[in-house]
Amino acid sequence: MMNLTDMNVIRTLAKRHHFTFSKGLGQNFLIDPEVCPAIAMYGIPSPECGVLEIGTGFGVLTQELALKSEQVAAVELDKRLAPVLKETLGEFPHVKIVWQDIMKVSLPEFLAEQFGTRKVAVCANLPYYITSPVLMHLLESGVRFESITVMVQQEAADRLCARLGTRAAGAVTAAVQLRGQAEQLFAVPRDSFFPAPKVDSAVIRILPYDTPPCTPETLKRVLRVVKAGFAQRRKTAVNALSAGLDLSKEQVTAALAECGHGATVRFEQLDLDQVLALTQILLPEAD
Ligand code: SAM
Repeated sequence: MMNLTDMNVIRTLAKRHHFTFSKGLGQNFLIDPEVCPAIAMYGIPSPECGVLEIGTGFGVLTQELALKSEQVAAVELDKRLAPVLKETLGEFPHVKIVWQDIMKVSLPEFLAEQFGTRKVAVCANLPYYITSPVLMHLLESGVRFESITVMVQQEAADRLCARLGTRAAGAVTAAVQLRGQAEQLFAVPRDSFFPAPKVDSAVIRILPYDTPPCTPETLKRVLRVVKAGFAQRRKTAVNALSAGLDLSKEQVTAALAECGHGATVRFEQLDLDQVLALTQILLPEAD
């Protein structure tokens, strides 16, 4: 197996294949030898579990995933990487590279095609310019992944794993945590990548709930409330929700009072259970 954390190997490969790193595609490749084995260890529950990787780069993480899983499918947008990957992943026949934009992949069909009925986990060092869209694409796909273990910028990790009801939380926190339990696994300093980005990173893992806290129909209503509440987070919840949901201030004040809150509370102070309760009052299920 080629050592893709060795800078000499990376430079030689890049030179041989005239490869230049694209900032626009978020091409910061991992060069710390401890990080990829750790992602694979946390992210792959058993060898029978298939793995979907997003963004192979030169294949440093893909190699580790291939060592721990019987089947890996990796979606990569940059076709210039094809000759490099032929060299670095050639020895792993159970790795399939699919040249596509992950945002354009219809996941249920794609996974059925690639993995059949096999369970699937996601492992990736995500391109940072589309961290939240990719996570939403995965979580909204309707696919029940075993786990989603991804490298993101430290700031995004803090936001995604924040506790709802604290200042660190945002709309994306709620959107993720309504679907699964999110935790930060470990920090990864910027010099673990080549080229080094300007900020540090962290690996997070989302474990989708076996039993979600609400039905898909309720989830849609909760997300409307969340969007409205966080859209104007500096304002009181009364002002943010009445503007965002087109409700009277009296209605929202009364609903908040029912949930035990005064008129000055901000939306970011509400925890998940309170947001669920508030939704049932403000946007009750249609008969
Ligand atoms: N896994 C490699 C590693 O850890 O060194 C590369 C990670 S690098 C941060 C992100 C990778 O995602 C790049 O190879 C980039 O070309 C690819 N990428 C960027 N946008 C993509 C998209 N929309 N769909 C699929 N892959 C994408």
